[in-house]
Amino acid sequence: MLIEPRQVKLTTRTEIDVRRTIPHARLRTIGAWCFVDHFGPTPQTDGMVVAAHPHTGLQTVTWLIEGQIEHRDSIGSVQLIESGQLNLMTAGYGIAHSEVSLQTQSNLHAVQLWIALPEESRNTDPHFEHHADLPVIHHGPLRAKIMAGEFLGQRAETKIYSDLMGTELRLAPGESSTVRVNKNFEHGFLVVESQAQLNEHEVPLHHLQYFEPGLEELTITNTGDTELIALLLGGVPLGEKILMWWNFIGRTHEEIAQMREQWNNRESRFEEFEDSIGGWIPAPELPNIHLQAR
Ligand code: MN
Repeated sequence: MLIEPRQVKLTTRTEIDVRRTIPHARLRTIGAWCFVDHFGPTPQTDGMVVAAHPHTGLQTVTWLIEGQIEHRDSIGSVQLIESGQLNLMTAGYGIAHSEVSLQTQSNLHAVQLWIALPEESRNTDPHFEHHADLPVIHHGPLRAKIMAGEFLGQRAETKIYSDLMGTELRLAPGESSTVRVNKNFEHGFLVVESQAQLNEHEVPLHHLQYFEPGLEELTITNTGDTELIALLLGGVPLGEKILMWWNFIGRTHEEIAQMREQWNNRESRFEEFEDSIGGWIPAPELPNIHLQAR
């Protein structure tokens, strides 16, 4: 299944557009991966200004292709992230954070992803990790940098709560490589730069190709004329219904309504913190329907 990205305007100070592939009407999750936003590349390197907002029941992953982003959160983390590094924030019971991109000579180009926490971990204490030294694999012409989980026999130290993997792949134009993948996983392959052929499937720039569990081998060919940059995301199918609304993941309407009230009333579930942006993003009105986990 080929997922076409859609343009979404983020709630920020600068009206930035992102390309969202999941959640999608035909594909809600890939393992526990439940949200994939691709931003840039843009020469407007200071274009991302996202004031304080909360999260619950998920992990946020920030992956930079180019540029610099500063992360701050309500448990005291202050972290600059650069290309090839990973910021991983486990929201658990509740956290608030802000992100601002810094002016650099290059472009700003990033992918932001969410991982849903399973029932037994979703109310864990919030924590934050920065990884600047992730494992790199050279497999013939293919270069893989592992963000989370295991790929080609190597494993990242990244803290995860369900059986999943994520890796950045790079391949020069015209090159091809075959890799073994976990057949218990479903997979998504997001083309960030160039275009690819994956087994018999043609995948255009910015699209995501989905594979059901059972896939054992993936032959990746860069059919474009620039370096292929892609993310391979995999995991055991989630196996539980989740309720994603705004920046929260819960299980029931009542729970989401409570999180919304607690954020908008500035209650202690989400601590306050200082940043250079100032202010905070209020949660929108709930829709006039009873939200249901799906
Ligand atoms: Mn966020």
